[in-house]
Amino acid sequence: MARIAVGGFQHETNTFSPQLATWEEFERADAWPPFLRGAAMVPGVEGFNIPIAGAIKTLMALGHEVVPLCWCAAPPSSYVTRDAYEKVAGWMIEDLRALGPFDAVYLDLHGAMVAEHHQDGEGELMRRVRAVVGDAIPLVASLDYHTNMTPEMVHHATAMIGYRTYPHVDMADTGSRAAELLDRLLKDKRPLHKAYRQFDFLIPLVWQCTLQEPARSIFALLDDIERGAGGAHNQGIVSLTHTPGFPPADIAQCGPALVVYGHDKAATEAAADRLADAVRSREAAFAGRLYTPDEAAVEAIRLARTASRPIVLADVQDNPGAGGTSDTVGLLRALVAHRAQGAVIGMMVDPAAAQAAAEAGEGAVLRRGIGAAVGYAGETPVEARWRVVKVGSGVFTGTGPFYGGARFQIGPMALVTDEDSGVSVVLASKRIQAADQEMFRHVGVEPGRTPILGLKSTVHFRADFQPIAETILVVQSPGAHVTDPVELPYAHLRQGIRLRPLGPVRA
Ligand SMILES: [Zn+2]
Repeated sequence: MARIAVGGFQHETNTFSPQLATWEEFERADAWPPFLRGAAMVPGVEGFNIPIAGAIKTLMALGHEVVPLCWCAAPPSSYVTRDAYEKVAGWMIEDLRALGPFDAVYLDLHGAMVAEHHQDGEGELMRRVRAVVGDAIPLVASLDYHTNMTPEMVHHATAMIGYRTYPHVDMADTGSRAAELLDRLLKDKRPLHKAYRQFDFLIPLVWQCTLQEPARSIFALLDDIERGAGGAHNQGIVSLTHTPGFPPADIAQCGPALVVYGHDKAATEAAADRLADAVRSREAAFAGRLYTPDEAAVEAIRLARTASRPIVLADVQDNPGAGGTSDTVGLLRALVAHRAQGAVIGMMVDPAAAQAAAEAGEGAVLRRGIGAAVGYAGETPVEARWRVVKVGSGVFTGTGPFYGGARFQIGPMALVTDEDSGVSVVLASKRIQAADQEMFRHVGVEPGRTPILGLKSTVHFRADFQPIAETILVVQSPGAHVTDPVELPYAHLRQGIRLRPLGPVRA
């Protein structure tokens, strides 16, 4: 039995997004738990599909003593404020000093955190952790699929393990795998060789989905190498992690990378090269069709005439799960203009409109604008006669493969319908990605019986909605999660990297 310090600090930072990640964003609960410190952490994360929940469960099952530090997460947005970063990192380090000594440390990290004063949020945090615990004990971190894995992170961590799915349906499982690896490191005490590679092209999130090629076969190969498939053994390879990266982060080390850990240096380097070659050789395959809002509305109306299941329109650039404001109205305006009767779009984060709907009550008609609360890209609210069909408290539990078990607390919600066009909007009060059918059922919409569904999500929606969709159209409507990195005004990104697959090189 070992004493293991456990903590987490999660943020995916879109440095081009208009909203900062303040301490209040980390402190409060939304889809994930609120800030938790000490004894409150273990019950507070139990049952959520998040890495720390899986890690704690597995470490305890393996008989280790889990010593909670602190854990928190904020919705993806722009920079973590200096205040928020120093508060959370400060508590983590304070507890690490006060509660030690430890035999090992486990951290639940995203891997794409950028603070106002640190480009590499996780590398800096791990540097501070090492300064307390020294280099002799294992420091293992779990990572999001969208990690921008930096040399500093690889240097400070004994090992890191990333998600292998996008949509992320293996978040708690990844925590469990990190815990198992930590246990193995404590038991066999053999040094690990690290083989790290960075790639020289950015991959838009929308083409990173593991339900589709080329990511599907890349991650199948990763599993094969780790298991030693086709051979009698895997040559001492302990684990492989490939992180396709989070492009809208203006930092030098932004982009895809991989790391392989193993006991044999030559075999570890060879495995890294084999996986790297598989990614590089598929560069051209990270691509697909993008519809304008008008094209999408017209095509969806046409397809819905004969479809028996929903036509899903993925509003991929206004994904709050990647720093979008979740209130842009490009797709909504197109659906209204083309009179897409029965279409429903969500989640439209407009706290004032949601509150007004809740106060007016079901059946009332609101003559007001909806959406564009932040006013991204100069947009203005959509004015109409919005009938309040149903109101909700915003308190419910997720049921899909991504958000299953998440205990949502997202404030007043409402379903409102434009009496003229017949287009409906699900209003919400906190930024939350439309990635679980329960968000719609909460306000009386059965997604499977909706002809056209607009979802503010890039890929995560696919876990719960692809199985019920007739087809999915990927829409490029205004949003702070810009799909094509070529359009982003990078100042810090390293030179020589292609801004998209086969795209122009950053000078
Ligand atoms: Zn992610």
